[in-house]
Amino acid sequence: MRQNDHLGATGVVNDTTLLLDLAGVSVIRVEQLEDGTRRVHLATADETARACPQCGVFASRVKGRAITRPRDLPYGERGLEFFWHKRRWWCGEKACPRKSFTEQVPQIPAGARITMRLRAWAGRRVRDAGSTVVQAARDLGLSWPVVMNAFRIAAATVAEAPLPDVEVLGIDETRRGRTRWEQDPDTGKWQLTRDRWHTGFVDALGTGGLLGQVEGRSAADVLAWLSTTPLTWRKNIKFVAIDMSATYRAAIRTGLPDAIVVVDHFHVVQLANKMLSTVRRRTTAEIRGRRGRATDPEWKARRRLLRNREDLTDTQFATMWNALLDEGEIGQRLRTLLALARTGADREQVGHARWRFLTWCADSDIPEVTTLATTVDRWWPEIAAFINTGHSNAKSEGINRVIKLVARNAFGFRNADNQRLRTRCVTTRRARGHLRTA
Ligand SMILES: [Zn+2]
Repeated sequence: MRQNDHLGATGVVNDTTLLLDLAGVSVIRVEQLEDGTRRVHLATADETARACPQCGVFASRVKGRAITRPRDLPYGERGLEFFWHKRRWWCGEKACPRKSFTEQVPQIPAGARITMRLRAWAGRRVRDAGSTVVQAARDLGLSWPVVMNAFRIAAATVAEAPLPDVEVLGIDETRRGRTRWEQDPDTGKWQLTRDRWHTGFVDALGTGGLLGQVEGRSAADVLAWLSTTPLTWRKNIKFVAIDMSATYRAAIRTGLPDAIVVVDHFHVVQLANKMLSTVRRRTTAEIRGRRGRATDPEWKARRRLLRNREDLTDTQFATMWNALLDEGEIGQRLRTLLALARTGADREQVGHARWRFLTWCADSDIPEVTTLATTVDRWWPEIAAFINTGHSNAKSEGINRVIKLVARNAFGFRNADNQRLRTRCVTTRRARGHLRTA
């Protein structure tokens, strides 16, 4: 009735090596200590353990016995410890400089205090299961350097793997650490002494996660990273999703001249909202705080707005003005424009709507509105590319959260290279399918 029966189980397990499933050793007996710890006595179950590690000749003369206590994966709620009863051998080869040696098996090399599978597991916990080095070390009863080293070995396979093919590359910036201002003792001026940024490169469409990270956020930084990638890989990139960074756009034009730059319209709407609150803050201060001056540009706008409403009081004007902003006529017009482009209206229609939007903004004579319109116009090809493809760098932002999380849980990852490696491991986890170890 056991599920294994039809899978060809052989029945009673006589081979005690299967008890632990740890190759090379078998269980002699298990005793339980007063505190509940199970002490498992092991014998060597691998003939090659008596091959001299230096010359490879099998030894036949026992020199003595030894007990080592390698640690293994935790199993059960109470402690589990190994007593490995092994032999020392005299090497029989006369020419061999090694006189004697103790037995070793691949899972437990001579001198190792932990099994290879425990070491590998510790590394994967950090690499794939989002554990910090400190957590893994505590949970597995290992030292910090042992876990850190295990992680580096496990992560090497990720870092050395070739980049996956990427159709849409996402580029985004993240701040690394806190900014720091310091006062110059001579001049008394405050200076920004530390403002470190990283640029992250992500697979914005597929499951490749974080592909790379470099210090800095200049065009040169972006180009430096791109130059480390194979040309054939770069040629496969069709789109690059960024936020409205002119620096990144310039870098892409140089480094990936055939790729189409895409700007998520979320960034445009965000920009419009920011502009609206700037205007609102400014006008509120002016209406409530002091009388406007004829030279203030916003008062020029006011005059314009009042052209046909000269009987409005200040209060009435404020009400009207705020209504304009609250209903977000500017935002509304922008949304209409974006929506029209999205419905696949023809070029001429979109072109016309865009022209109407720009004209309306210019006519408003409100400096922020004009700035917004100019920005939207300057980024229109990239915005249109987003509307046509739907590609965005939303994934970059998700990955930025991981980067920040890794930085915050940085115990053991104070070194920037280790942090980058860790983030790369975490964000490529899904693609690598290692979730079993979580
Ligand atoms: Zn030898």
